[in-house]
Amino acid sequence: MRVAVFSAKRYDRALLAEANAAHGHDLTFQEARLEAGTVSLAQGYPAVSVFVNDEVDAGVLAALAAGGTRLVATRSTGFNQIDLEAAARHGIRVVRVTDYSPHSVAEFAVGLLLALNRHLHRAYERTRSGNFELDGLMGFDLHGRTVGVVGTGKIGRAFGRIMAGFGCRVIGHDPCPHPDFEAAGARYAPLEAVMGEAEVLSLHCPLTPATRHVVNAESLARVRRGLLLVNTSRGGLVDTQAAIDALKDGRLGGLAIDVYEQEADLFFRDLSSEIISDDLIQRLVSFPNVLLTGHQAFFTREAIGTILATTLASITAFERGEDLVNEVRPPGA
Ligand code: NAD
Repeated sequence: MRVAVFSAKRYDRALLAEANAAHGHDLTFQEARLEAGTVSLAQGYPAVSVFVNDEVDAGVLAALAAGGTRLVATRSTGFNQIDLEAAARHGIRVVRVTDYSPHSVAEFAVGLLLALNRHLHRAYERTRSGNFELDGLMGFDLHGRTVGVVGTGKIGRAFGRIMAGFGCRVIGHDPCPHPDFEAAGARYAPLEAVMGEAEVLSLHCPLTPATRHVVNAESLARVRRGLLLVNTSRGGLVDTQAAIDALKDGRLGGLAIDVYEQEADLFFRDLSSEIISDDLIQRLVSFPNVLLTGHQAFFTREAIGTILATTLASITAFERGEDLVNEVRPPGA
């Protein structure tokens, strides 16, 4: 099948080409992300593959349908960048990668937490310039602390298990509780209780209308002073301006984010020689207690291998008219 692969980085090209030997699809790689200005590149391709910051909105889906596209395969777990209702209206099916290594993201969230709490990012910079002073680098023992987990799906549960192993008291919130979370020694509580009791809060729910800005000025007014907040899920879960205000007055003791609400115009590119006009991100990186990474939590050999293999297998299943086990449909469909 002819597949237009958008947002294709060097590693995507190399690994997809290798994995495709078993499938034989005709892959065309586009460095650009899929959006209104680039959708013409998908003309005549029955399948397109996208990534987290492509803009697969109603207009793009209409253009895709007109150009003959019938399948959108996102190389991600999250699918908030795709208008599922519009896709269904145009008869375009959507597949994602339901299950790749949840450990990749959970372990990264733990890494961010450890670095943030013990100021490893600052220690790294200090020692490289010969500064071995400890002032300003004091953290706290995680053992015995209360760690809140919002969203206890595959990643949230893996994160909860690791934190339980650190000797933390793990509490979580999820509208669909999972017995494995409690089996790991964690317990469920209402969202307000999780946010109010946590000394560390890690977000692992998808971005939906219900979860957008789940961390906002109002919820931050009720957190324990000095809360460490970790977000490896989606930027839109956090109201960035409210987080900045909470960092300024100390309600947030630290913020570690791998995702950012306006990341689409920034991430996955080298902008080091450009003027960045996004004042919010510039303010964020000016805080010593903010750690920012560019959506790399998924980026392990194991996860990428599974993501690409699953994407190609879904395209093959679609071509053969087989069941699409990783299909996502609009709510209620
Ligand atoms: P999952 O589907 O296994 O789990 C998501 C959980 O969130 C589910 O248990 C669901 O019930 C819960 N949830 C839904 N609405 C909620 C709400 N209002 N409050 C609390 N919980 C709610 O997904 P997963 O594999 O664990 O992935 C979680 C998220 O992580 C993805 O949606 C994606 O946004 C993000 N992610 C980020 C990266 C990265 O590289 N940074 C990589 C993969 C996934």
